[in-house]
Amino acid sequence: MGAPGAGKGTQARLLQERLGLPQISTGDMLRALRDAEDIHTTQASGKLISDDVVIAVVRERTSQPDCQNGYVLDGFPRTLAQAQMLEGLSAEQAKPILPILVAVPIDILEKRASGRRNCPVCGEIYNIYFKPPRNDETCDHHPGVKLFQRADDSVEKIRVRLETYNRETAPLIDYYSASGRLFRVDGRRDPEGIYEDIEAIVRDSVAPSVSTN
Ligand code: AMP
Repeated sequence: MGAPGAGKGTQARLLQERLGLPQISTGDMLRALRDAEDIHTTQASGKLISDDVVIAVVRERTSQPDCQNGYVLDGFPRTLAQAQMLEGLSAEQAKPILPILVAVPIDILEKRASGRRNCPVCGEIYNIYFKPPRNDETCDHHPGVKLFQRADDSVEKIRVRLETYNRETAPLIDYYSASGRLFRVDGRRDPEGIYEDIEAIVRDSVAPSVSTN
């Protein structure tokens, strides 16, 4: 969990690369849906997609065989209804929920989100202020492939997303703290420092079946 620009996607990608846990980004999955103009318009506006749609996507994706040993939910749950659905899924799948908050102060968030650029081929996340690509606006792993900026990463849309986050998603921090499950990591550091903390939390908390080679 974390506000827009906190670094959830970067961390989820590292967990996938290094621990083999599939990254399930509801934002990416919704953006990739075909014939879903309404959904894409809502995404570009910075508002949330309806719980029913997102829940169906998560239920279907997490039932795939690669999720058997666990998975990383990136950007889900974002509402109390989604958190409640996840409790049910956790019981059905016999998997504990490990809520991790990447905590970043609001003044840093705007700059992080507005500087973000993504590779359309591999999904690598760059930042023109903090992690620029080696060559102007192209992917380090895919020479010549131009990076793009998400429609909702403009300063104006980021403000809407932060408001949405504070209203709908921030209450989940209390929800998970109240049951003593929330882990909080300091997201102001560089990605490797944040990752170290997250990997330690995952290693200490979950199944030995997770490979840490
Ligand atoms: P993200 O890629 O996580 O920043 O999500 C981008 C956008 O996708 C959000 O602003 C929402 O419009 C939509 N979205 C992603 N995850 C969810 C979710 N769990 N619930 C509702 N909308 C979502």
